[in-house]
Amino acid sequence: MSTLDFTGRVVIVTGAGRGIGRAYARLFAERGASVVVNDLGGDTDGAAPSAGPAEETVTAIEKAGGTAVASTASVATEEGAASVVATALDAFGRIDAVVNNAGNFRIGPFDELPLTTYQAFLDVHYLGSLMLARAAWPHLVASGQGRIVNTVSAALLGVPDMVHYGSAKGAVYGLTRNLAVAGAPHGVKVNAVAPGAATRMVELTGDTLPPGTIEYMREHMPPELVAPVAAYLAHESCRVTGEVLNAAGGLVTRMVMLNSRGIHDPALTPETVAGRLDEILDMTDAQVAPAHRPGPRDRDHLTPLRGPAAADASHPAPFGPSRSPGHRRGRPARIPSIGPTAARTRRGRPDMPSADVIREAVARYLKAVADGTAGDIAACYAEDATLEDPVGSEPRRGRAAIREFYAAIETSRRHTELIALRVAAGSAAFHFLVRTELPDQTIDVAPIDVMTFDEDGRITSMRAFWNPDDMAVRRHGQDG
Ligand code: NAD
Repeated sequence: MSTLDFTGRVVIVTGAGRGIGRAYARLFAERGASVVVNDLGGDTDGAAPSAGPAEETVTAIEKAGGTAVASTASVATEEGAASVVATALDAFGRIDAVVNNAGNFRIGPFDELPLTTYQAFLDVHYLGSLMLARAAWPHLVASGQGRIVNTVSAALLGVPDMVHYGSAKGAVYGLTRNLAVAGAPHGVKVNAVAPGAATRMVELTGDTLPPGTIEYMREHMPPELVAPVAAYLAHESCRVTGEVLNAAGGLVTRMVMLNSRGIHDPALTPETVAGRLDEILDMTDAQVAPAHRPGPRDRDHLTPLRGPAAADASHPAPFGPSRSPGHRRGRPARIPSIGPTAARTRRGRPDMPSADVIREAVARYLKAVADGTAGDIAACYAEDATLEDPVGSEPRRGRAAIREFYAAIETSRRHTELIALRVAAGSAAFHFLVRTELPDQTIDVAPIDVMTFDEDGRITSMRAFWNPDDMAVRRHGQDG
């Protein structure tokens, strides 16, 4: 794996005068980035601002041979956020990543803290992250590999005496997920870190933690063990968007929201909910809650933009519309030739599936798509299969990830129709119509799928092509 280098990149880190943000700024600078070190420099509750902390971090970076500039604006005001962006542009002329790390902190009972405290926490954590993201957005888009790394906390899940802090972090979680959707068409990736590190913030919670916790954190959980996670998420090579990674003491895990399989009862009553609560709560086969359901309003997301193409929507995407096989609604598309290569491959591979096995496998897949059950579709795939689809920007590997993908686009009352099929040893390319009937509209999409199969007819890889211009949406009760 090559070193993750930031040479030529400009990264803004807020709250970088101390603690975790300072470790971020130093790592970015070490890796070649020009860093805007923003910090208001106040107490944990934001009082008594001072230029000291930001300037000290800049001095430390410069002493180590790096490049940085200080900003002492508060991210909690629109002018402050604008000035952080202006500092970056004045000093370095561009912005590639924004790390929203600044945070205020205190603890206190829900019913005793004044409303001004709740507002102050929203102002710094949520609005601070939002305003900086907005001010930097055009520059992140222009960068072609814009990145935003927000900061959440395990406190969003609920801890004693932190309603003000935990719910503000919950808002940052929602911001991260939604900005990831907004950024997708522009190649801007938005993720969050839920850190754990010995900083002055943690020292404040001392009395509420089990004995020995602070001492353990001081020894084993330095901010420097959080920084590599933010660095990866801010790097152009980052593969994910809309994710939250927990990072503490070298442990890195994924934080997700899950949907249980639950129940479906068209005659639902309160008594059904009471009687079947255990089934509703049962997390067997739970699935990661999807970011969004593709639909007519967000068809931009249906275009696959990968690699350098993601940087520039006008650049031909490797599997995007500009190179996808032509298709006009109602007419079969020219489906890709897969014959000679696959046939040559087969001569040395007697374990290749026959054309009949492949035809059956395609039919099974189309039926599963029509049935709209993610589990059935995922079962058409081999355990280690790869799915590259126009929805979303990352290939999915493994049956669980594939199931998750289909669960995300699952809708009821679907119909599929094969328009054209080409089969060669081990592979198939086929063009088909998927008609989804929703209560208020009918959506037609006509993708072309190219698949390879194992000897049992399970899909081992799949690439889908479709042209968003070929998607037809008919609202019921309206023409066309
Ligand atoms: P810290 O207090 O050491 O650092 C936070 C920095 O943010 C301070 O230097 C402060 O001056 C700055 N800041 C506060 N308000 C600001 C504003 N309006 N504008 C600009 N700068 C401002 O705390 P830390 O532990 O390094 O916290 C960093 C981030 O990590 C925070 O968002 C915090 O909520 C989050 N966090 C930390 C932990 C942990 O274990 N330390 C756990 C969960 C979340």
